[in-house]
Amino acid sequence: MPQGIIENLIEQLSKLPGVGRKSAQRMAFFILNMKDEDARALAGAIGAVKTNARFCKACFNITDSDLCSICRDSLRDRKRICVVEEPSNIIVIERSGGFNGLYHVLMGALSPIDGITPDMLRIKELAQRVSGNGVDEVIIATNPNTKGEVTAKYVREALSPYDVAVTRIAYGLPLGGDIEFADEITMKKSLEGRRKLD
Ligand SMILES: [Zn+2]
Repeated sequence: MPQGIIENLIEQLSKLPGVGRKSAQRMAFFILNMKDEDARALAGAIGAVKTNARFCKACFNITDSDLCSICRDSLRDRKRICVVEEPSNIIVIERSGGFNGLYHVLMGALSPIDGITPDMLRIKELAQRVSGNGVDEVIIATNPNTKGEVTAKYVREALSPYDVAVTRIAYGLPLGGDIEFADEITMKKSLEGRRKLD
């Protein structure tokens, strides 16, 4: 039996993380009552992200062109690179307004237990960026949990041949936590309080 259109929408929405059947139902009826252009913009944004999203060639942020909007921005401080685990972390740091440099996404964190080894992360690419063009500081903003700490240490080692200051964001961020859930003020304070890693 063919599914009703609203039931189908509810089913699709309930596949999203943290969305149970009830919220999916509320969302579906909300969408039904949305202005036509808003609903189409939502659908279009979902389509565009699947069609056009790729990784920035320089920093591995999500973008729809070769270089992301941050790497293309001539007003950003190119002497500072903030290293994060995931592209979603960039959004949190950007919203904090505490950083005006460039980013580098590692695409995960080291975790021998899960079989995540250094060669699977974008560490070599980071070293290449640092060796090439006058970077003064690399700020390691991996998550304040065990994997994030191990990764920070490894990255610092990998950058030791280069003449660059390697700093680590301060805590204030909940220990064992995830940058993704940090609020803007905490994130900003954490960046301001960063310390040299030695
Ligand atoms: Zn980029």
